Amino acid sequence: MSKKLYERPIIRPLHTGLMNKFGTRTEYAPMTHIEGASVAGLIEQYGSPLFVFSERQIRENIRSARRAFEARYPKVQFAWSYKTNYLNGICNIFHQEGSWAEVVSRMEYDKAKQNGVPPERIIFNGPDKTEDDLRTAIHDGAPIHIDHLDELYRLSELSAETGKRPRVAIRVNMDVGVYPMWDRFGFNYESGQAWDAINKIMTTGKMDLIGLHTHIGTYMLTPSAYGVAAYKMADLAIGIQQKYGKTIDYIDMGGGFASKNTLKGSYLRGTDVVPEISEYAEAICSALLNAGFQNNQLPALYLETGRALIDDAGYLLGTVVANKRLSDGRKATILDVGVNILFTSFWYDHKVSPAQEFGSHTEDTVLYGPLCMNIDVVRENVTLPPLNAGDHIVIHHVGAYNLTQSMQFIAMRPAAVVIDKTGNAHLLKRKETLHDLQHNEMTPEYLNTFNL
Ligand SMILES: *Cc1c(COP(=O)(O)O)cnc(C)c1O
Repeated sequence: MSKKLYERPIIRPLHTGLMNKFGTRTEYAPMTHIEGASVAGLIEQYGSPLFVFSERQIRENIRSARRAFEARYPKVQFAWSYKTNYLNGICNIFHQEGSWAEVVSRMEYDKAKQNGVPPERIIFNGPDKTEDDLRTAIHDGAPIHIDHLDELYRLSELSAETGKRPRVAIRVNMDVGVYPMWDRFGFNYESGQAWDAINKIMTTGKMDLIGLHTHIGTYMLTPSAYGVAAYKMADLAIGIQQKYGKTIDYIDMGGGFASKNTLKGSYLRGTDVVPEISEYAEAICSALLNAGFQNNQLPALYLETGRALIDDAGYLLGTVVANKRLSDGRKATILDVGVNILFTSFWYDHKVSPAQEFGSHTEDTVLYGPLCMNIDVVRENVTLPPLNAGDHIVIHHVGAYNLTQSMQFIAMRPAAVVIDKTGNAHLLKRKETLHDLQHNEMTPEYLNTFNL
């Protein structure tokens, strides 16, 4: 057999915005109102930029996610992923809808407690829990999800010291056919690490193994990966039952369901390719139901869905600062919204709508933010009608991660409001002030004066 010819791979740049089979079009109709509240009115009252959340959309999202799982599985519990968006008002909407809290740090743990979540309903994840964090969680009876062996040994020691049995689960990572694999958190399934951790917990007898946890990645586009993960989790749970006669309370499948945003470089829009929550639910619930649990030993199913429940409920309003021509003739529009408050623009092509009526003429435009940084690009290429300085725009699907990952840089961060079911706006967070920025600063006495 002759050797096959080597062909060099060809990489073609993607030219989004050019003519394709859909033809050119402006991305969108004007968006003058959000849930009945006028965009211009909101900006007048709260300033620009402004984060706006739709309470109706959030409640609809969590209710339909619950319906999708509860229709397929008898015991389902959602826990709100605090790091996705921890404005207290937003967290409390989820808590009102029955979600527990899922936290990955002491700051988030304390926040959830302050919001009034009973500690037994705060799931404590994350690789960095200090001895004091663990002592507090043991004392409170919060479920502690163990990330590594050092944490396991620490908990073992603390249980002797406090005389209380920590309620623990282990975090498990595994090969679900999606690469690169997320194997930096928790104990690996295939290599036997997960069993090693389980055996250590069960044989020392100092901790109460109440569950198993996994979080296979984020913005996962393949529901079948969750089916594989759920099957492996069920295999561990059934193994624990067989080996130790111990029935665990729950399997926690984490989060990671994709929101309907469009990834950069994707040919099709997110709304066309992102699976419905019901498809993830079908994959997970079928795997668990078919795994071979005795009927009365089915564990509860916990879910920590973040971005898929909040992204489309969040908008960022902004204002056009100026227009200019770049040296290659392209049109550039400068907005007062930068990547410091829209972190997700690094990987999503966020949909942008003008907030006022416009004519039929459109042009390919690059949207810049106001920062003095070359990377401050909101959209590299978007077809928009001409926008004048002072016009408003609405950026869609920004509810997840932007507030929690926002960065204070050369300007104050904006306010955030929620629109209630009657179309009224309520402040969730006021605009930052110079005082907020400086109140932790100290200036040493000898640096207090100068003579210019
Ligand atoms: C971030 C995180 C989530 C939420 O992830 P999404 O991708 O937003 O759904 C859930 N569980 C854990 C452990 C996380 O770290």
